[in-house]
Amino acid sequence: MSDKLAIAGGTPVVDTKTIKSWPVITQDDRDAVLRVLDSGIVAGGTAPEAVGLEKDWAAYCGSKYCLTTNSGTAALHMALAAAGIGPGDEVITSAFTFLASASCALHQNAIPRFVDIDPRTYTMDPSKLEAVINERTKAIIPVHIQGIPADMDPILDIAKRHDLVVIEDACQAHGATYKGKKAGTMGLMGAFSLNCLKNLCGGEGGLLISDDEYSIKKASLVRMFGDEVDDERQIRVYNASILGWMYRNQELPAAFARSQLKRLDQFNATRAKNSEYLTEAFKDIPGIIPPYVPEDRTHVYFFYIIRLDPKAAGVDAPPRKFREAVEKAIFKEGIPIGQWQTMPVPAQDLFQTKYGYGKTGFPWTYNEELKKITYNVNDYPEAQKLCEDYTVVHGTHPPNDTDLMAKYVETFQKVFSNLDEVMAHADDDIQAGFSPTLYGAS
Ligand SMILES: *Cc1c(COP(=O)(O)O)cnc(C)c1O
Repeated sequence: MSDKLAIAGGTPVVDTKTIKSWPVITQDDRDAVLRVLDSGIVAGGTAPEAVGLEKDWAAYCGSKYCLTTNSGTAALHMALAAAGIGPGDEVITSAFTFLASASCALHQNAIPRFVDIDPRTYTMDPSKLEAVINERTKAIIPVHIQGIPADMDPILDIAKRHDLVVIEDACQAHGATYKGKKAGTMGLMGAFSLNCLKNLCGGEGGLLISDDEYSIKKASLVRMFGDEVDDERQIRVYNASILGWMYRNQELPAAFARSQLKRLDQFNATRAKNSEYLTEAFKDIPGIIPPYVPEDRTHVYFFYIIRLDPKAAGVDAPPRKFREAVEKAIFKEGIPIGQWQTMPVPAQDLFQTKYGYGKTGFPWTYNEELKKITYNVNDYPEAQKLCEDYTVVHGTHPPNDTDLMAKYVETFQKVFSNLDEVMAHADDDIQAGFSPTLYGAS
């Protein structure tokens, strides 16, 4: 190995072309999709693959009911609509998440509010939750971020005391557990995404689970125009009882996801093995803070994220500058690396301008109380700090293995033993990140 950093003209440690993309597609997946085409049935409420996926996912989670839908965002929206959330209501989620955990409330004309995160797990901090609850609050959406479940017991406790609905955003946590319980099964409903990046991939798609028959019946109406179905004859009667959308999944992605599901546990085990391999090695490199997994939880490592601490690394630089410099150096060594969310969700323009439906300011203008709501980023100091110093190390998904992870460790060791050189290149014009093809997208 050459000690000269790639950023300074040396040889990169990793040949980026050797990093394999996600999802892992096998002959079984091809056969599953072809079976749909051969059957001639490509859509419909009782189409066998969509219904089969619902049964299989409910069984996997140990849930009574499951609905498949066309996205994780749709699953979240269906859940809120089914729970009767509407204009004038407030819905609380985590400040560090993907926008959809919050915009699903706006889709139902309700108002999202945010709670800061626990600085070690990056999930909603339950000790800060009650301060955000008021008489308008109707629901809490904890997010199992990056594959680690939120601290559900205190959240469920608080929800119970205030009579609030809990809907889990488990879009990044297929198969993760909290005190032995599967992510998505602890609240009234749990939403999952099947988009191409996620641990369970259908290309696009979503899943909603619940043990509550009433909620699932309502969510099912919302999924398809609000159209009532004649229970006995199982046909649509073209009489909408409530407002609904068109959120059905399709047979082809459902067949693909169903085939992938057979290998989900195996995929998650590979993610954990690769991630734990990195974590073990990173413990010996001052300045890298690997993911923290409390003993009562299992992590499914949707993304492998680390924090970078200039002080511990012996570098006199602000966290953002240090993080960006390390990203550039690691990226030049051949590893796709870079941030996912770059700011807490409430810092996004949508919440700063409140231009939800254009100039009207609706739904914040629904009443005088809601008009007063503003989103001050300083209310979420831990999420803000995280967005300065965290980054995602890409390529830890299967079929990549610990041979590649050994190269990753070698790369970080090389970069962290040349931090003066790294900082000398801090302002180089390099855009770190990853190619969408790494996750089967384009
Ligand atoms: C992916 C994701 C969603 C939305 O899923 P889509 O299928 O892309 O609509 C929602 N919440 C979180 C936390 C996600 O990561």
